[in-house]
Amino acid sequence: MPPEKPQWRELFAEVVTTGACTGCAACVVTCPYDVLGYDDADGVYRPFHVAQDGGADDCTHGQRGCTLCTRACPRFRAWEPEIDQHLFGRVRAEDEVAGISREVVLARATDPELLAAGQDGGLVSALLVYALEHDVIDAALVSYLEGDGTTWKAIPGVARTRSEVLAAAGSRYTYSANTLAYSEALAAGAERLGLVGMGCQASAPGAMAARKAGKVARRFQLTIGLLCSKTFDDAIFPELFEARYGLARAEISKMNIKGVFQVWMRDGSYHEVPLKHARDWTREGCLKCPDFAAEHADVSAGGIGAFGDWTLTLVRTEKGADLLAAMAADGAIETRPVGDDPGVLPLLEKLSNVSRKRGPGTTRRMIPVGTG
Ligand SMILES: Cc1cc2nc3c(=O)[nH]c(=O)nc-3n(C[C@H](O)[C@H](O)[C@H](O)COP(=O)(O)OP(=O)(O)OC[C@H]3O[C@@H](n4cnc5c(N)ncnc54)[C@H](O)[C@@H]3O)c2cc1C
Ligand code: SF4
Ligand code: SF4
Repeated sequence: MPPEKPQWRELFAEVVTTGACTGCAACVVTCPYDVLGYDDADGVYRPFHVAQDGGADDCTHGQRGCTLCTRACPRFRAWEPEIDQHLFGRVRAEDEVAGISREVVLARATDPELLAAGQDGGLVSALLVYALEHDVIDAALVSYLEGDGTTWKAIPGVARTRSEVLAAAGSRYTYSANTLAYSEALAAGAERLGLVGMGCQASAPGAMAARKAGKVARRFQLTIGLLCSKTFDDAIFPELFEARYGLARAEISKMNIKGVFQVWMRDGSYHEVPLKHARDWTREGCLKCPDFAAEHADVSAGGIGAFGDWTLTLVRTEKGADLLAAMAADGAIETRPVGDDPGVLPLLEKLSNVSRKRGPGTTRRMIPVGTG
């Protein structure tokens, strides 16, 4: 029997229509024939195949042997062990519920502007600025708020300068498929890309590299993961924050999640919304996601723990370790031992376990993707 060459037909049947698809858009940016689109209207956040070329569930290029979308998809078949093996040379142990890491520290930007703009310790923004200014990457794929920010619609975009990194800093809790900014970065002449994203997106460069997805894979040079237990539908603004709590979207100035939704308004008032009230607006693409700790990033960053202005930092790959060491040596970041916050690792483990229980059978199926 010839080797299986899984293509869009298999991706559609096994990932897109089973609830395993996170909407990460890796398949869309990897498709060399531009026959995959991305629907981000009304909270959909899904790829689709254009009607003119085989319809929703088939692809003429796939029939002729193109397998690139399945090679890029970080939810296709045995994605987790394949990426683990590629990045770390081994598959994680059962008790490594937050993925494989070399070190966990608390870190933050020393630059006061980056620290102030960051959601937690500004580590992610400091990493991006350092990588841009030290010739590690040409551009970073990040998330901005659309327009003047009053719609709170998170959109993918490109950052090439310190001021663009600053404009993108902070967290939005609706979905932004940062991977989609790939084409914009290339059009601007960038070849070496940094990607910031939650685990669903942070596994994409690893999937592409593990399965040899060509030049798209080679362009991703740095992956920064964001710890994440879920994102919310954009409808949460009118339907919950405004309808139930009277918090008008245009008047919200900042949001955070620390056990509750923390909401700061432009008039200076502060409000809390219990997370259990927000449950009904959980984005569908998150319901089966097993990855809290962005397990395939070079560096993963989170905000849990006792210290609001430090970033919980999981150093995973050699590249991530080297970059953080250089930044610390140059005084771009400061670090402190994770043991300074004794509760944070147990909490990381607990939240990682909660997410792992959501993983569907499809995400652990041990069938390697064909190399044909
Ligand atoms: C949707 C979401 C859920 C999260 N959930 C948790 C959690 O449950 N527990 C936890 O410990 N940490 C969580 N985090 C991570 C946390 O909010 C911080 O992003 C992290 O601690 C890094 O802080 P920082 O100050 O170093 O980052 P910053 O310097 O503020 O940089 C943050 C980066 O994240 C990007 N970004 C912002 N919003 C989005 C988005 N919606 N999609 C993609 N990229 C985005 C920005 O463009 C920016 O580059 C979540 C983040 C997001 C975006
Ligand atoms: S998980 Fe990502 S790569 Fe896989 S089908 Fe969905 S959008 Fe495409
Ligand atoms: S829970 Fe977070 S990491 Fe998982 S699919 Fe949703 S947004 Fe992505």
